[in-house]
Amino acid sequence: MSDVAARLAQVRERVAAACARAGRPVDAVRLLAVSKFQPDELVRDAYAAGQRDFGENYAQALRDRADALADLPDIRWHAIGALQTNKVKYVARAASVFHAVDRLEVAAELSRRREGAPIDVFLEVNLADEDSKQGVAVAEVDALLAAVRALPNLRVVGLMAMPPQPDGFVPEMSRPHFRALRLLGERLGLTELSMGTTEDFEVAIEEGATVVRVGRSIFGARK
Ligand SMILES: *Cc1c(COP(=O)(O)O)cnc(C)c1O
Repeated sequence: MSDVAARLAQVRERVAAACARAGRPVDAVRLLAVSKFQPDELVRDAYAAGQRDFGENYAQALRDRADALADLPDIRWHAIGALQTNKVKYVARAASVFHAVDRLEVAAELSRRREGAPIDVFLEVNLADEDSKQGVAVAEVDALLAAVRALPNLRVVGLMAMPPQPDGFVPEMSRPHFRALRLLGERLGLTELSMGTTEDFEVAIEEGATVVRVGRSIFGARK
């Protein structure tokens, strides 16, 4: 068994245990393997171990990776990082899901560039109103959602967030943020929640995550 297959099995066990604690069925949570900065071989190892959903942050890296691994059937690419308008075309072509809609301009360009099936998107929310952070402010989510819903080639499925990780961070510190995202999703009638990374995915599952984005626990430290 490859190292990646062994780590993936451990992460799947932790996902299942968190689901059991929360009284949720294990298939309520999709594990997204974040492969940014990892070599193609490790992505192939994860694929061989049954993983199908992979996330990349940077649009060009996603394009290159999708090309390099085009021989793998049913692989699904998720773009999880902020996008500049001029890079949207790569995501429109290669991704099944985009997790980081935070302004209308990018969403509109994505809709314009998308051909074939609509792309599933999450609105990224800046829960703690951090100046340094991407994501739409909570006060502006309703307006952004209404505008994005009017675009023809996008399908809004849920909300995404990256809670702050201050010095001395422990996973429990993410819980109130994850809970706030769930309540916001409920208010907006959005059922999917993309939240939780290596640092805090179990807490995220306990608070209702439907997608967890896990990199280092699966692939090891990034080079
Ligand atoms: C890198 C990244 C992840 C995964 O982080 P790990 O700590 O490697 O699990 C998840 N989400 C986003 C948006 C990221 O940039």
